[in-house]
Amino acid sequence: MKNILVTGGLGYIGSHTVVELQNEGFKVTIIDNLSNTRISVLDKIAEITGIKPDFHQIDLRIKSDVKNFFETNTVDGIIHFAAFKAVGESMQKPLDYYENNVNTLVYLLQEMRDRKLDNFIFSSSCTVYGQADILPITENATVKKAASTYGNTKQIGEEIIQESCKSHHLNAIALRYFNPIGAHSSVKIGELPLGVPQNLIPFVTQTAAGIRKELAVFGNDYPTTDGTAIRDYVHVVDLAKAHIAALQRLINKNNKEAFEFFNVGTGTGTSVLQVIKAFEKASGKPLNYKIVDRREGDITAAYADTSIANKELKWKSENTLEEALESAWKWQQQQN
Ligand code: NAD
Repeated sequence: MKNILVTGGLGYIGSHTVVELQNEGFKVTIIDNLSNTRISVLDKIAEITGIKPDFHQIDLRIKSDVKNFFETNTVDGIIHFAAFKAVGESMQKPLDYYENNVNTLVYLLQEMRDRKLDNFIFSSSCTVYGQADILPITENATVKKAASTYGNTKQIGEEIIQESCKSHHLNAIALRYFNPIGAHSSVKIGELPLGVPQNLIPFVTQTAAGIRKELAVFGNDYPTTDGTAIRDYVHVVDLAKAHIAALQRLINKNNKEAFEFFNVGTGTGTSVLQVIKAFEKASGKPLNYKIVDRREGDITAAYADTSIANKELKWKSENTLEEALESAWKWQQQQN
């Protein structure tokens, strides 16, 4: 049984991926420092799958702790989710973002090099494209100067991995996620934002639940049909499954290059106002929202061309936007 290390495995995307890994028969070891999640997620994973993954509460910024972990554990692959992820916050706290998103990656790759470990999957992001000139965005689009520090940490991360692949026989895949939303059908795991949500959907569901007075829509003067920003919203369970496909590709040595990267999205762009309407329909709840200024670091529109991922990973998103919003709303109600 292959043992897969999942860093940030108690976080939003990590926890859904752990469930899918266990469903596919992998043994899972999680590292998380609980900076953006709760330990109770571990029990929820066990409730869903019947298996409690190994868990190590480690802060990956502490190099000696990372080293200690690898001295006593051996792994067949790593899926690296642990990072800070808020675009807006990254502009206020750039050094914290570089420390958490870049240093942790370097420490993991150093251990992989020293111990000759292989098979690395990296949580990248469509933010690496900045504002792409052509939509939908293909993997061949130019990686432009990132619009945010967060986006830059992902660009730098990909470069570090690519160079590691060249210099020490590492095989790696970066998955460039578009906008993950929704929750597991069991309603036992979902997105758990601490404080004011930075992402649209938890802000939407918390507003519908009465936790937030109103939803802030950042800008209605973008050059889009209704003036609000356009994104590609992918169900988190579909995204989790893309990690299994990428891992199998590496383990089975089906990769064509030592370092590969794939878009993970639905291929459909949806504006903020369209999301609001779709949510109101799915939940039957009217949403109180207000247009406010644009947010620093946000771009106009991003949605994926997923044809390369569909072909190479044999993966395709299956859930609709409505299904994803319904699951997010069920999850929110369960929190209440
Ligand atoms: P999340 O915050 O829910 O999960 C990250 C997990 O990593 C958390 O459980 C946190 O406690 C842990 N963590 C953070 N720093 C750590 C450290 N130094 N040591 C150990 N654990 C640490 O975030 P998520 O939404 O699940 O995102 C996972 C990954 O996907 C991140 O790399 C993020 O940048 C990337 N990503 C997310 C989105 C999104 O919209 N959610 C989009 C594109 C890319």
